[in-house]
Amino acid sequence: MAQIIDGRAVAAYVKGKAAEQVKTLNEKGIEVCLAVILVGNDPASTVYVANKRKDCDQLGIVSKEYALPEETTMEELLSLIDTLNKDSAVNGILCQLPLPRHLDETKVLEAISPLKDVDAFHPENVGRIMMGKYDFLPCTPAGIMEMLDYYKIDTNGKDCVVIGRSNIVGKPMAMLMLHSNATVTICHSRTKNLAEVCRRADILISAVGRAGFVTSDMIKPGAVVIDVGINRGEDGKLCGDVDYAAAEKVASMITPVPGGVGPMTRAMLMCNTVTAAKKQHGI
Ligand code: NAD
Repeated sequence: MAQIIDGRAVAAYVKGKAAEQVKTLNEKGIEVCLAVILVGNDPASTVYVANKRKDCDQLGIVSKEYALPEETTMEELLSLIDTLNKDSAVNGILCQLPLPRHLDETKVLEAISPLKDVDAFHPENVGRIMMGKYDFLPCTPAGIMEMLDYYKIDTNGKDCVVIGRSNIVGKPMAMLMLHSNATVTICHSRTKNLAEVCRRADILISAVGRAGFVTSDMIKPGAVVIDVGINRGEDGKLCGDVDYAAAEKVASMITPVPGGVGPMTRAMLMCNTVTAAKKQHGI
């Protein structure tokens, strides 16, 4: 049976360290503040924003929420971002995605100051990640790297397969594994012989968004399996991309869903906010 990679435990550890840093900053008279913008009433986004508020409260980070109506215009949204960019009391700015369809996501992400871009979606930060010289990393890939580190999973020279090539998960994930000396393959919807490619992986990371997508025949015996997917199974329960019951018999280590990557994503947002505050105060 595979060892469970306990995302909740690692997230608690990471958040504990972030809370200590917040306390140290507070002692210097510096408050740490995250501004979260939510446009519209998407139910999942509303839950995510509420969770971010809870995490901020837990760590002593000031959270400011801007809930804007669905019909908000680009001008209004960009004007708010501009105000927050200029507000020295705000350290991190996050615009919850997805945005309503009439809003230009790229323009919105580019409007957030790279210094306050705690999601690391600004092209300047994306470029820095490519170069391996970054202040912020996107929260989900960063959280996965933290988990690998916590469990002392060696990435050097390992074959890593990432399924998914999104800007949020797949691409930055592959880049981080490359920086940590893995030999990386990125798979996507047009990849041929997917199962065969995945079976080469010492570390298999799935970010597809389809329940039961990764079956046990795609996993090399002894591989480390990281499941990023968040889906509803046929039973209505939350699940990942990986057929967990079958995979845990083949893998050496595996992240569960829930309780794996998700808590780490939340924790890394807090870390990025603390990093932003420190940078802005020259610490
Ligand atoms: P996305 O839809 O942008 O990307 C999905 C990727 O899967 C695409 O790059 C696509 O090429 C690939 N794909 C689709 N069908 C495939 C196939 N048949 N074979 C191989 N590849 C295929 O999604 P995303 O934003 O990257 O998110 C992926 C999943 O991760 C979703 O379930 C999302 O909810 C979840 N997610 C979880 C967290 C977390 O914190 N746990 C964070 C972000 C995303």
